[in-house]
Amino acid sequence: MKKLNNYIGGDFINPFSDTYIENINPATGKIFSLIADSDQNDVNLAVEAAKVAFPEWSSKGAEFRSKWLLKLANYIQENIEKFAQAETEDNGKPISLSRSIDIPRAVQNLSFFATAILHDKDEAHHTSTNVLNYTLRQPLGVVGCISPWNLPLYLFTWKIAPALASGNCVIAKPSELTPYTAYLLSEACQAINFPAGVLNIVHGYGHKTGAAIVSHTDTKAISFTGGTQTGKTIASIAAPMFKKLSLELGGKNATIIFADTNLEEATQMALKAAFTNQGQICLCGSRILIEESIYEEFKIKFIEKVNQLRLGDPINENSQQGATVSKTHQEKVISYIEIAKNEGGKILTGGNKVSSNQLPERCKNGFFIQPTVIENLSAYCKTNQEEIFGAVTTLIPFKNENEAIEFANCTPYGLSASVWTQNLARAHRVASKLETGIVWINTWLLRDLRTPFGGAKQSGVGREGGYEALRFFTEEKNVCLKF
Ligand code: NDP
Repeated sequence: MKKLNNYIGGDFINPFSDTYIENINPATGKIFSLIADSDQNDVNLAVEAAKVAFPEWSSKGAEFRSKWLLKLANYIQENIEKFAQAETEDNGKPISLSRSIDIPRAVQNLSFFATAILHDKDEAHHTSTNVLNYTLRQPLGVVGCISPWNLPLYLFTWKIAPALASGNCVIAKPSELTPYTAYLLSEACQAINFPAGVLNIVHGYGHKTGAAIVSHTDTKAISFTGGTQTGKTIASIAAPMFKKLSLELGGKNATIIFADTNLEEATQMALKAAFTNQGQICLCGSRILIEESIYEEFKIKFIEKVNQLRLGDPINENSQQGATVSKTHQEKVISYIEIAKNEGGKILTGGNKVSSNQLPERCKNGFFIQPTVIENLSAYCKTNQEEIFGAVTTLIPFKNENEAIEFANCTPYGLSASVWTQNLARAHRVASKLETGIVWINTWLLRDLRTPFGGAKQSGVGREGGYEALRFFTEEKNVCLKF
């Protein structure tokens, strides 16, 4: 069985513990590779390699770093099918999604930041005729990047690319549930002779490997995407060490549909927002708020579309819904459906695991859940307050604009919202009152990598994307010169 070893200092290295974690394909329930079970010793080794590589990587100019990142991007582009297959085997997501979104976006992340640094500039302030202030933005040194399992290579590269582009050396850890494309990335580095020690990939459990990266005295910043609870743990360790922290955390996003919308378009996009990637995207619209006067009409249309979703073996090009990432996560999602029922929720469709006789032979032991829609719940109940992160969405009617805003804002989260209306004044008004980092109007998940990305409230601290990310990975130094 293939062993996914750590990539440290340009070499593949066995973990010190010499033990491995089983990597399971969630669509089949079968082990298909083994992952290094790394600990503090492996992280120490990676940090030492990164420290050795840092002086040269950081002192060469932007063009040098840009060239290497573009080489890496090109390698992935040329091997896109291999990466897409690995992502689907690892995560259970439909292959069409891996081919059209996950892997192309990883290529785009690398090339975006590789070229952004070619156009960046430093600020200067001409204070008086003989005084000039200018601001240097210098790389931090060795930084840690920790990413989740839902969009594995997509989010891994979203962190690594700006960190490397701005001159840092990186210790990166993918989720232990989905390590394969990160491993392929390390193979890519070796294939193109990427400078050794600049990017180090250490596999293992979050509470062990991840925690070792966070607590290491020589990692100067931590960029983390994952659950809010993990974010709190990381902050409690990193904040007293005065590390820079970027935390992209959970969400409980509202899709808000006003009666004056184009209902067909809104229904189609609400479906996509709720169930893409089996509802396992931090930006998924897991609460659909609908103006009372069109509630029944929306409900009928929406359920019809949900029932038409093609669930099946994710490796099949026609499947629109694949497997949930793990057995544990499948159980968690199902437990929330039980909570919803106990809270008085009415299941309009779905509500169960997919039974094995409805699945192809290869997938009989896979972790599949029926796309589930629930109504008849208060906006304030547990089901509508906590992040489920699965193929479950609720329908909530609202009376007027104020109530829509109240319901949208009533959770501890504040990542994103999607507003559907043809009334431009209302669109701007509602957008300004939503307590979220991102608002989409008449669309969802339309991304421009230059825009600030991140959440308010318990959805995170800081912003990724564009210059925000490059700023995060640098230290500003103002130089005041009198001449
Ligand atoms: P987790 O918080 O469980 O894990 C995220 C990463 O952190 C994993 O690599 C994990 O490793 C690691 N980790 C876990 N514990 C620690 C620790 N104590 N110290 C350091 N690292 C640790 O999240 P999930 O992987 O379950 O991802 C789902 C969550 O991510 C959802 O809440 C979702 O909303 C959020 N998310 C947020 C996004 C955003 O941009 N705001 C985007 C995508 C997802 P391991 O897996 O090995 O435990």
